Amino acid sequence: MEGEAVSGAQLIAQALKAQNIEYMFGIVGIPVTEIAIAAQAVGIKYVGMRNEQAACYAASAVGYLTGRPGVCLVVSGPGFLHTLGGMANATINCWPLIVIGGSSDRNQETMGAFQEFPQVEAGRLYNKLSVRPSSLEVIPAVIEKAVRTSMYGRPGSCYIDIPGDFVNLQVNKSSVKYMECCLPPPISMAEHSAVSKAASVIVLSKQPLLIIGKGAAYSHAENNIRKLVDLCGLPFLPTPMAKGVVPDNHPNCVAAARSTALQHADVIILLGARLNWILHFGLPPRYQRDVKVIQIDICAEELGNNVRPAATLLGDIDAVTEQLLEELKKRSWKYPSNSEWWQKLRGKIKNNEERSKGLALQKSLPMNYYTVFHHIRDLIPKDCILVSEGANTMDIGRTMLPNFYPRQRLDAGTFGTMGVGLGFAIAAAMVARDHSPGRRVVCIEGDSAFGFSGMEVETICRYNLPILIIVVNNNGIYTGLDANSWEQMLKFGDPVTCVPPVSLLPNAHYEKIMSAFGGKGYFVKTPEELQNALKASVTDEQTPSLINVMIDPQSERKKQEFPWLTRSNL
Ligand code: ADP
Ligand code: MG
Repeated sequence: MEGEAVSGAQLIAQALKAQNIEYMFGIVGIPVTEIAIAAQAVGIKYVGMRNEQAACYAASAVGYLTGRPGVCLVVSGPGFLHTLGGMANATINCWPLIVIGGSSDRNQETMGAFQEFPQVEAGRLYNKLSVRPSSLEVIPAVIEKAVRTSMYGRPGSCYIDIPGDFVNLQVNKSSVKYMECCLPPPISMAEHSAVSKAASVIVLSKQPLLIIGKGAAYSHAENNIRKLVDLCGLPFLPTPMAKGVVPDNHPNCVAAARSTALQHADVIILLGARLNWILHFGLPPRYQRDVKVIQIDICAEELGNNVRPAATLLGDIDAVTEQLLEELKKRSWKYPSNSEWWQKLRGKIKNNEERSKGLALQKSLPMNYYTVFHHIRDLIPKDCILVSEGANTMDIGRTMLPNFYPRQRLDAGTFGTMGVGLGFAIAAAMVARDHSPGRRVVCIEGDSAFGFSGMEVETICRYNLPILIIVVNNNGIYTGLDANSWEQMLKFGDPVTCVPPVSLLPNAHYEKIMSAFGGKGYFVKTPEELQNALKASVTDEQTPSLINVMIDPQSERKKQEFPWLTRSNL
């Protein structure tokens, strides 16, 4: 070939680099190995994982934490199929993500090629864009479009399919359509009349409530939201992943009076949160029938879902919050701190906090969830990135562990996905390593949740990522059996017929998975052992560690006031 040649793999790597892609997670194999090698050669950090699903979760967490998509690189067929959960999770969470899948050679298509699967078609359901470049020459343009599409408007996942024969094929550089880095997402603002309408509704409110969602965290709106809370004296409630946008210890945080706040608010300002199951659809009995919702979102199609809003502010949360702030300043409005509404909320907060404290201080063994979280809260660094999953572990942990910084909490999210934890923790540790050195990642997992991607502990040790994993172990899913009951039960015969579906093996030594790969493992049963293990792992900033905390297999969350709360995730 005349002129300088470039391979498909090199083109892909250079195009990703040109779009400022920093991280790639994946598993190599035919036909994508060369792409990973080329990516490393241009300075993209490549993290080799043990399962594509975890790799895809990791790449999506990079998108949420940095605002720029991470890339997940996988092989054809099964490798691609293992990313479906990650692509769906990213799109449903509104996080940017790029998945690059190898596929079979073009000249073998429909012939029953190795790992052949209709990947572009399959990708459509999970992605904002699912494409295959028609030639090597257009690869940079396709990658630019995918990166841009993943970030612009409502963020989400994009899939790029690379036929195997493209990877080592060469083209002349002069025939390639190179692309500059796409511009940052344009910032849209709400219509002036809508801002004015919203302010008019807010100033007449008697029982206002600000709900902060993970869209607000994603848009880096923390400074303006903090100003809005302080200037207007508004009570606020974060959704699970919006915890920390305004610190949980801010006096206006009413998270501990969540049900009361939702049930009695007359005006709700909804900042980047959907009225889906997490917020009980905005409907009675969780809300007043005539609650006035002021909805702020970047996605026009979201406005009006489930509840007819009193005002709709279409635009970027940060920009629109500033608009709202200006408008309320003009009207010199501040919600009085001595209102009956505040008294009601404060009374409820006090009551609820005392109930949790009572449970946390129980001395009985095995420990309950509240005791465990009480000690974790005391000993982990205040600025650590918290990853959390598992049904009770995540729900109770959310109420017991405060967040003080935005984008500091990653969990099962809108899709309620279990198995995201280790991938998220690896992504968070990579981002922390490069952007805020010294910041720790603490990954708190139920024993069942840990099992989904437990082998990623090897990945953690291979890259020496100083992640602290805490497995809150109750021998099962929701509840489990203690060792004695387990023994008794097995006397009745074949385990397959008598082991309860919720049960996992009692006293499983998950900490040995960590020590098997050179990290530190701790098996703890008492508060003292837990404190010692936490102190040791937090002090040792270099080594990955896993604390396996045995708790009462029948430990439950505290009784809920309303029956419709017990089944919900909140
Ligand atoms: P939560 O789980 O915290 O309730 P959701 O994921 O349901 O939050 O909602 C987040 C919302 O934020 C989505 O509707 C999404 O369209 C919106 N969003 C994402 N980024 C922005 C942004 N920059 N500005 C405004 N809204 C945004
Ligand atoms: Mg469990």
